[in-house]
Amino acid sequence: MGTKGQELLGNNLGKVIELLNKAYADEWLAYYQYWVGAKVVEGPMSDALIAELIEHANDELRHADMVAERIVKLGGTPVLEPKKWYDFTNCGYESPEDPYTKKVLEQNISGEQCAIDVYNKLQKFTRDIDPVTYNVAMEILTDEIEHEDDLQALLEEFEDLKKKFR
Ligand code: FE
Ligand code: FE
Ligand code: MG
Repeated sequence: MGTKGQELLGNNLGKVIELLNKAYADEWLAYYQYWVGAKVVEGPMSDALIAELIEHANDELRHADMVAERIVKLGGTPVLEPKKWYDFTNCGYESPEDPYTKKVLEQNISGEQCAIDVYNKLQKFTRDIDPVTYNVAMEILTDEIEHEDDLQALLEEFEDLKKKFR
């Protein structure tokens, strides 16, 4: 980074890298939660849900890539040890022990709501000091907002379906 870019960041470089690494851990865990969820989910509307879960898994992996690129650009190192994802994560991992469609939907909706908070906070922190990270957060946040919306629409459909057959 050039001198003026560094001046903007001031002494916040370490903090920005830390926030990015926390988001990075979230993305890998979200990726796996979607990926394995698509393998095990069962119940009404499972075909539609599987398609959505796979799509979101691919998005989360792309987010992990974007965040890692930014960490490296800032001179940091993305978390190298998967065990450490659990130390860094904001949003955690919800194992789809109960593979019922509604349950999997609810788990992933809460994950997206957490992700929205994470990138919203990252944007607030970087707005005036690191516009590049701010833009990365913006791009990812746009996807997370769409993810939540897609899953909530499926949950609504699920509830309507249940009413119809009652
Ligand atoms: Fe993501
Ligand atoms: Fe997402
Ligand atoms: Mg979607």
